Amino acid sequence: MTRDEALALDRVDPLASRRDLFELEEGLIYLDGNSLGALPKAVKGRLDEAVTGEWGRGLIRSWNTAGWIDLPSRVGARIAALIGAAPDEVIAADSTSVNLFKLAAGAMAMRPGRRVIFSEPGNFPTDLYILQGLARFLPDVELRLVEPGDLPDALDDSVALLLLTHVHYKTGATHDMTALTTWAHEVGALALWDLSHSAGALEVDLNGSNADLAVGCGYKYLNGGPGAPAFTYIARRHQAAFQSPLTGWMGHAQPFAFSDDYAPGQGMLRTLCGTPSVLGLTALDAALSAFDGVEMSAIRAKSRALGDLFLELVADRCPGFGVACPRNAEHRGSQVSLTHPSGYPIVQALIARGVVGDFRAPDVLRFGFAPLYVRHVDVWDAVENLVQVMAHEEWRQDRFNQVAAVT
Ligand SMILES: *Cc1c(COP(=O)(O)O)cnc(C)c1O
Repeated sequence: MTRDEALALDRVDPLASRRDLFELEEGLIYLDGNSLGALPKAVKGRLDEAVTGEWGRGLIRSWNTAGWIDLPSRVGARIAALIGAAPDEVIAADSTSVNLFKLAAGAMAMRPGRRVIFSEPGNFPTDLYILQGLARFLPDVELRLVEPGDLPDALDDSVALLLLTHVHYKTGATHDMTALTTWAHEVGALALWDLSHSAGALEVDLNGSNADLAVGCGYKYLNGGPGAPAFTYIARRHQAAFQSPLTGWMGHAQPFAFSDDYAPGQGMLRTLCGTPSVLGLTALDAALSAFDGVEMSAIRAKSRALGDLFLELVADRCPGFGVACPRNAEHRGSQVSLTHPSGYPIVQALIARGVVGDFRAPDVLRFGFAPLYVRHVDVWDAVENLVQVMAHEEWRQDRFNQVAAVT
């Protein structure tokens, strides 16, 4: 494909106008929306109003007058529409890590007598760390890491919970949510899905897949900003039985009754712990308006096309790179992962040229395609820059070989 052909695809892209909703520096090619989404223009004005008006003038009255207290549910309902859930099945609060703890602990209590949790080796670190912490904390819990291909055979009736990440953070490979959930249910286990790399980029159908539990990130494809609140999903059929291990007052049935004894709140409210992060939720709420009126199928179609284009151009023009992601877009999330022994300095040299991707140890170069704001021509230009970095061996420069704290 030529650059002109890429431009022609952008002219007929049904999502093309969405890019104007984002603050993106001229000339910057941002391929890291899978790590931190771009800034939606609506966020600035909305935050200014929240800070100046709601906080500055309204002060404590704003819990009621500005509806702060309902933000977790309101934002959750907007996210629900993007992941195939009902509005009352999703709530926005806390971080993905904390929500993982709440759901995994709650799941263990829902499967008394079962002590085994399954996940896969190489899952996102926090997912494994949280399970390890939980296993040290609860008596006799055993964490078993099984390669996904071996899962169906390995599952047995000792398993309480299966935790998997729908799109792998490093390889971009997707799991078949429906098939694996069905396998878990056949042995009586619950399935918990981490949607951090899926929400806002892929068509997720939690209800259609019969998923039990899910969590996901607010600052990746949902563009909620650094450290944005995450979300939690509990299928309606499980909500009444769910007990949070973090029984804070905001999850109480009547937080403002100030009684001495805990009683769980209605539905998803019982998953809340402390006071909601109002400014973070406000930013996420405003950011989600970039999805208004867009079908996830259109987003997914563009996500596949951009990934396919990147892989096709790399295959034609960049010898020496391995491909760590599935080549078939059907089995790939919204990112492409290449491998190269000098991956780190190559990514740094690209960033210096204004092409922002990222690096994951030991040798993976990740390029994420957020369909709301990445264009076909951006993909073309990114590969052109990669060609230049390699042709002139720019990555050998010392300044690109110093490893920063955050990669
Ligand atoms: C990004 C990501 C997280 C992030 O967790 P935080 O608590 O927000 O740091 C968790 N799990 C997966 C799979 C992720 O990709």
